[in-house]
Amino acid sequence: MRIANHAGRLALVEPDPERSGGLRGLDVEEISDGRFAPDPQAVYGRWAEFRGWADAVDLTAAVPLDPGALGPVAPRPPQVFAVGLNYRDHAAESGMELPTTPLVFTKYASSFTGPQGDIALSPGDVDWEVELVAVLATGGRDIPAEQGWDHVAGLTVGQDISDRTTQFSAPPPQFGMGKSYPGFAPTGPALVSVDELRAAGLDPDDLELGCLLNGESVQKGRTGAMVFSVPDLVARLSSIVTLLPGDVVFTGTPAGIGAGRTPPRFLAEGDELVTWVAGVGQMQHRFVPGDRT
Ligand code: ZN
Repeated sequence: MRIANHAGRLALVEPDPERSGGLRGLDVEEISDGRFAPDPQAVYGRWAEFRGWADAVDLTAAVPLDPGALGPVAPRPPQVFAVGLNYRDHAAESGMELPTTPLVFTKYASSFTGPQGDIALSPGDVDWEVELVAVLATGGRDIPAEQGWDHVAGLTVGQDISDRTTQFSAPPPQFGMGKSYPGFAPTGPALVSVDELRAAGLDPDDLELGCLLNGESVQKGRTGAMVFSVPDLVARLSSIVTLLPGDVVFTGTPAGIGAGRTPPRFLAEGDELVTWVAGVGQMQHRFVPGDRT
């Protein structure tokens, strides 16, 4: 099952066989006769009920969706968790030791944007970080890792765009601020349920992901290389924080960021960034001058 945020309304979607990477779908509020609200964020609070209904919906009447109208799949999460240094090769390129517990920070929700369109550059050195993003269905505390996937509504593609100048302006690093300029947290194009990935023969614990800058592959890895897997993160986060329906988790990036290169390379005006997770989807963004650059 796949859902998307289409023009601010919840849509039940599927890949469009007529357009590579495109989606077609139906408006949930309309086809459910108002049973489910149009607000994409509201669905996570009624996830089990929604799944029961959505799994029986016939999508043969689905219409092509405008990719430019797609928004973040969870636009106003109660909490946003982001995990740093969650891949061994990325910790090494960052010159940091591998964490023994997840290094957690936040991306403020005002930085959320959709899977296509322009992103304004911030004043500093702006970097890319492809990430698998999980959205929670049922929350809770002290969730065992063996039940971690049961609490995940689905997975989507994310970019943890990062202003390294702000992030490292003075010790200790300012992760939350450097990664929360407007537009620095794009997600989409759709949220794909874990059972849908398994049905497609994919292992949700080992998905290939990467990003391309102006057509050149700059990051390529597998989520199987994460230090803390998605179910592990659910367990460790919920051992401290009460998790809530619709919470968003950015799970970390593999090697290949711009700051880890010799010489370092950062995003510039006109750059095109394509971000993908196999079986989940692809995003495409162009970088434009910001009002402070
Ligand atoms: Zn990151």
